Amino acid sequence: MVKPFVPQLVYIEPRALEYPLGRELQKKFEDMGVEIRETTSHNQIRNLPGENHFQKYRIAKSTLVVGIRKTLKFDTSKPSAEYAIPFATGCMGHCHYCYLQTTMGSKPYIRTYVNVEEIFDAAEVYMKERAPEITRFEASCTSDIVGVDHLTHTLKRAIEYFGKTDHGRLRFVTKFAHVDHLLDAKHNGRTRFRFSINDDYIIKYFEPGTSRLNERIEAAAKIAEAGYPLGFIVAPIYIHEGWKEGYLEMFEKLEAQLPSYARKDLTFEMIQHRFTKPAKRVIQENYPMTKLELDESKRKWKWGKYGIGKYVYNDNEQEAIKDTLGGYIKKYFPEAKIEYFT
Ligand code: SF4
Repeated sequence: MVKPFVPQLVYIEPRALEYPLGRELQKKFEDMGVEIRETTSHNQIRNLPGENHFQKYRIAKSTLVVGIRKTLKFDTSKPSAEYAIPFATGCMGHCHYCYLQTTMGSKPYIRTYVNVEEIFDAAEVYMKERAPEITRFEASCTSDIVGVDHLTHTLKRAIEYFGKTDHGRLRFVTKFAHVDHLLDAKHNGRTRFRFSINDDYIIKYFEPGTSRLNERIEAAAKIAEAGYPLGFIVAPIYIHEGWKEGYLEMFEKLEAQLPSYARKDLTFEMIQHRFTKPAKRVIQENYPMTKLELDESKRKWKWGKYGIGKYVYNDNEQEAIKDTLGGYIKKYFPEAKIEYFT
């Protein structure tokens, strides 16, 4: 069982202490006896300990930086939402395939932003622009925010903030089961709480440092009991020897453990494994022993963002994934909605 995250080292931007959350976190970490250092900017942590890249990367992943979010222009977040809402960046998990390794580059440490009200104000402008259309905000584009929220409660505030809005919806996804503090949040049905799930082989070999499948399902049941709309993202769907049986077992476990009230308003998203050439280099550097198959010649090249092509499964394999996993969902969760396969 993965314990709730406790940073080994904390950096605080002096300006973060102008905000109540900044001061609260400073006190919390002092009381916990965690080493606290000052940093002028969350973008420039230069003196992280560690003698080589391998060590530095691992220390960074257990370092928390308490800072201010200066850019309040939100990125778009298709296909799951209109905008990415930035409460945190980085993650303590060690998923070998994680895209954050490339997008965070030399800054794999975890950042939490304390100017939460300013982030809400920016969200309000986006909502007003689109009203009366609903605007969906995705809170987990650059982090697994649930993994750090037992310390900050920022997500809890966001859930309650969106619970009061007329045109806003919040969504996020997690691989962590530490959800107890979120059970009494006044969500008003406006937050879709999703869990990322995968078969045992993938969780075992590629998702160290995250909650196990059973823990995620147990947490999902609690979330459903608390009345949240619930969803599962099966990602990355990865073809390995025995994958059809592996995913069958995963859906069987889900079916056996998920209470009936959790199935009323249930969504599934399906995302196949993909990688880019830069991602492959970073993965092999950060996780040199990985079993993750990253052979371009076995994949189909697909045009990607910023002109960087990504390698996805070939058309036959994609069809097999859609048929197999789509079939399992229809069989075990006939009332659920499959939102997309990508
Ligand atoms: S839990 Fe999500 S964000 Fe964290 S390392 Fe794994 S894939 Fe990346």
